Amino acid sequence: MPDFNSSGWRDPDIARRLVAGIHARAAQLSECVHIMEVCGTHTMSIAKNGLRGLLPENVRLLSGPGCPVCVTANADIDHAIALAGIDGVTVATFGDMLKVPGSSTSLAAEKAAGADVRVVYSPLDALELAEREPERQIVFIGVGFETTAPTVAATIKRAAAAQLDNFSVFSAHKTVPQALRAIASDPDIALSALILPGHVSTIIGVAPYEFLADEFDIPGVITGFEPVDILQGIYLLIQQLAESARGTGQVSIDIAYGRGVRGEGNPHAVALIEEVFAADDAEWRGLGVIPGTGLTLREPFAAFDARRRFSPEVEPARTVKGCECGDILRGIKRPDECRLFGRACVPERPVGPCMVSSEGSCAAWYRYGDGSGYAA
Ligand code: SF4
Repeated sequence: MPDFNSSGWRDPDIARRLVAGIHARAAQLSECVHIMEVCGTHTMSIAKNGLRGLLPENVRLLSGPGCPVCVTANADIDHAIALAGIDGVTVATFGDMLKVPGSSTSLAAEKAAGADVRVVYSPLDALELAEREPERQIVFIGVGFETTAPTVAATIKRAAAAQLDNFSVFSAHKTVPQALRAIASDPDIALSALILPGHVSTIIGVAPYEFLADEFDIPGVITGFEPVDILQGIYLLIQQLAESARGTGQVSIDIAYGRGVRGEGNPHAVALIEEVFAADDAEWRGLGVIPGTGLTLREPFAAFDARRRFSPEVEPARTVKGCECGDILRGIKRPDECRLFGRACVPERPVGPCMVSSEGSCAAWYRYGDGSGYAA
């Protein structure tokens, strides 16, 4: 039995013992199991470390909607692009958002054509931009999950305290647990278990995921990002599935990332999110509109809401022809099942967001292959 408390998160010997344990437990299962990871950092680590290729035939890993850039709907990207087209507006955004294609163009293309689009590394950079350039309206494009929302909330509070009237946020933030409900309810996905996101869980803790085990009989494990973390998570999930199939145990949500996540999460960060944002419906690429998974600015902070401050004309969104990102983010297709993969769509010329983002499934698959030695 591997030592789960070891600090050897890259130790090949521990990894080998975990792989052997996974094979032994998986041999007790009568069916193929589908384990979804819902964090782009896990997707990248699984690909980079070739973990798929180490697993038995009957254990399949699916990538889910864990990359915040990838799940941002075309309608939101089009809206951000329209904001960049307003006279006097500077759009400030993370670098990954720049190349994501909207319905007909991207922020990068609009920047090349003269729009004022700037890359920032945090919302505070955007706030400082607003302080330095009071003649410009600075709009920060807020994408990401519970992990980034607290920093954005703190920035909005700081802008309010400073009474800045040239700073606002276009919130396309999303929250994870109810998106997992949509995935667990989707009969096309046939989900067996979940590798839950380490970073998001640092904020929200365990309780918001417990419905997965209670209502859907789906086990989950919160784990870290090193190869041994992920293998340990898979081992624990297979063990739970085997025991549940035998009738000797019940599935549950476990933490295998004690060095990063506490059961209660970070109540201070959650309180910050709840003070500034209210839950709203959000459109996810691939999953459609999921009630209550968006974050909109509450009334006391409405002056900092770019959706209210500006009303650019935005054409109805269109999907990018031939791009299968939607099905890939649902976990029902692999990147190499898209006919554009590695041909018309490569990291230097991405057609869809899953190839743009450094955490996207297509980018991971292109760079590292499927774990069997194959890469595009
Ligand atoms: Fe979209 Fe490109 Fe991925 Fe195909 S390979 S699904 S076009 S991002």
